[in-house]
Amino acid sequence: MAMKVKHFGHVHERFTAPVSQRYDCGRMCAPLNGGEPVCCTTDNAVPVVERAEYKYLKKRTDLWRGFKPTDAASRQIVDELAPSCLAIECKGAAHCEREHRTVACRSFPFFPYFTKEKEIIGLSYYWTFEDRCWVISNLQIVEQEFVDQLIEAYVYIFEHDEDEEEAYIDQSASMRRVFSRSGRVIPIIGRDGKIYKILPKSGGKIIDANIEEFAALEPFTSDEAYREAIEEADGDPAGKTLSPDWSIKDWWNND
Ligand code: SF4
Ligand code: SF4
Repeated sequence: MAMKVKHFGHVHERFTAPVSQRYDCGRMCAPLNGGEPVCCTTDNAVPVVERAEYKYLKKRTDLWRGFKPTDAASRQIVDELAPSCLAIECKGAAHCEREHRTVACRSFPFFPYFTKEKEIIGLSYYWTFEDRCWVISNLQIVEQEFVDQLIEAYVYIFEHDEDEEEAYIDQSASMRRVFSRSGRVIPIIGRDGKIYKILPKSGGKIIDANIEEFAALEPFTSDEAYREAIEEADGDPAGKTLSPDWSIKDWWNND
């Protein structure tokens, strides 16, 4: 079985919620990435889609085109794709059309997390982006509507595509291995809205947690660290802070 064009229509119509209505996270990571949001540049993340999703999008927009590898790493991504998949790229963040984003765009930086028992308990994130994606350092901003819609979208996709389900079961197992090896705790945003954690070398056991246990990661730990990282990325750190027009603290206090 595989997702068909009409199935992607079903998903695109229902999975529309942003990670957060309140925060434009792209403003926080773009200074680290030449002014473009990290997940919107193929230097960082090459969108991979099912051919049926590309067909669905091509009928509606000219935002997307096939991705042409520019170096050995991106050539490898393209070479290793399953025959049903395609690497694509959009015209860039300045031309983004929200209704024509891929499922991968809509989900980033999260994926449905499977327990060892192959049950979807909630979301976790693509950890290789921890050093560039501001959302990963601010999990408290993730809204329930986004969690609900992401889970619903993927459950639907898995009903139509067993390989896709297997890929996320593997992705979750891989996260457990990587985090266990480095002695790190995995944060999970539960589909019930609660926060859970998995301790290293615990056999994947899910236990209750508090969002406060998951501190921001470098370089989102302080304005100083943030500005240093912007400078290292050849950006202009002048005036850049982790709370430009709003304050997370105010948000916590107001809610
Ligand atoms: S999801 Fe992460 S990488 Fe993408 S725009 Fe937001 S902060 Fe940047
Ligand atoms: S379609 Fe929008 S969200 Fe997706 S990669 Fe392009 S600019 Fe980013």
